[in-house]
Amino acid sequence: MSDSKKEAYRPKIHTGSVLDDVTVHSKTLDDIGVEILPVHAGGTIHAKRIAGKFRTFKWLVASIWIILFVGPYLRWNGNQAILWDLTNRQFHIFGLTILPQDIWMLAMILLFFALLLAASTAIAGRVWCGYFCFHTVWVDVFTWLEEKFEGKPGKRIKLDAEPMSWQKVKIKLPKHLAWLFIAFMTGFSFVAYFVDSFQLWARLVNFELGYYEGMTIAVLAGLTYLTAGFMREQVCMGFCPYSRIQGAMTDTETVMPTYDRDRGEPRGRAKRPKPGEETPELGDCIDCRMCVDVCPTGVDIRLGQQFGCITCGLCIDACDEIMEKISKPKGLIRYAAINEFAGKELPPIWRRPRVLVYTSIMTFAAAAMIWGLATMSPIEVTVLKERAPLFVQMSDGSVQNKYTVKIVNKSESVMHAQVTVTGHNDLIFIADRVADVEPGNVGSVGLLVRIPRNKLTLESTPIEIMVTDLNNPQIVDRYTSVFHGPKR
Ligand code: SF4
Ligand code: SF4
Repeated sequence: MSDSKKEAYRPKIHTGSVLDDVTVHSKTLDDIGVEILPVHAGGTIHAKRIAGKFRTFKWLVASIWIILFVGPYLRWNGNQAILWDLTNRQFHIFGLTILPQDIWMLAMILLFFALLLAASTAIAGRVWCGYFCFHTVWVDVFTWLEEKFEGKPGKRIKLDAEPMSWQKVKIKLPKHLAWLFIAFMTGFSFVAYFVDSFQLWARLVNFELGYYEGMTIAVLAGLTYLTAGFMREQVCMGFCPYSRIQGAMTDTETVMPTYDRDRGEPRGRAKRPKPGEETPELGDCIDCRMCVDVCPTGVDIRLGQQFGCITCGLCIDACDEIMEKISKPKGLIRYAAINEFAGKELPPIWRRPRVLVYTSIMTFAAAAMIWGLATMSPIEVTVLKERAPLFVQMSDGSVQNKYTVKIVNKSESVMHAQVTVTGHNDLIFIADRVADVEPGNVGSVGLLVRIPRNKLTLESTPIEIMVTDLNNPQIVDRYTSVFHGPKR
């Protein structure tokens, strides 16, 4: 790039005043109400906030995260609706208990969301980062609070540059207290998904928090305060692994916020021509830098699609507002694919191989999840047959096989589990007990099955072992096993 071009693209620090002799396509920047602000000051980006459809969409999506804070207090049949009970290795979700043997379902959920991320990236770039990511949302809330307590970006930059004073502390302290409160609530709410949330509050107010609880809350709160309050876009650029790999999921058909260079260039603010001078031919970009001022990561999208762009669309809002003010068509910056600018037609989403592969795997994961949930029973029975010896010849002429019946109680109430056996007319069985199995626990029942030897026609006879919850007789599970006898 030539030196003159570098100079043209170098981020400029504006002082806030707009040159009086500058007109913008016959209007001054003042006329259209543009105040140019420095967004970078000593490394901190103080992005301007403006209204717009993408800003509204961002807030709507961000509100989903409220679920993190209310989730631990939801109740279901008197119990915490969502609870990761690590001690008992169980996951409870709205009355459903997922035990370690059902962990494949959680793997399917993770696979589904990983592929959803990949598919959304292939379609619309870092759309996760721009709207849904908890870090983006927390930074958005933190900077919103910053603006409420410390004022607009220009004021904040001046305040940051001032030497430390009591006055400065007085202005900044409420913001930090608000940040710390949100950071604490983030850490606390996270831990409240792993223990009873109300008991956790009780332990907190009585200073009886456990070591691991306290440490986890403190570490998460500290990380939230540090990353959302201070590191902000640096997390997206330097620490987040997704930002590193997302490039591999996009292609020339991925739509991302893109500056229409053909329409915008040569950019510039037309000076009032001196008498006899010709007005230079300019593109639609008036170089007001509003798109840069609003960018939370400090990107100048006019330099092309960049690694730092989180696809939040705020520069589109900003530029559309400017275009409206100077009576030009909106969309100088818009969601568009590289191929669109190359004059190629974009194929429909379902005809893009990358999207098809991602959505096929997603569909498989979703189907497996739904099947798993639909067929999930509150009881699960497995039977272990004793193999040494395979059978015993009894003195009364019968043949005996021994089994151990394992009963997993996935319901939320105690199970009174009775074992019965069918499969042969002359069969008798002795179960050592009716087992009381606590919710989420595994019960074990010893079982002996006998068949008179002269009634045995097969070396291996299929039998069915049935377990019924006497507290709730609809809860039944069957297990098919075999009864072994001597060779015929
Ligand atoms: S692209 Fe739009 S917002 Fe950005 S400098 Fe040009 S006119 Fe202003
Ligand atoms: S360049 Fe635009 S879309 Fe990208 S992060 Fe900045 S404001 Fe958001």
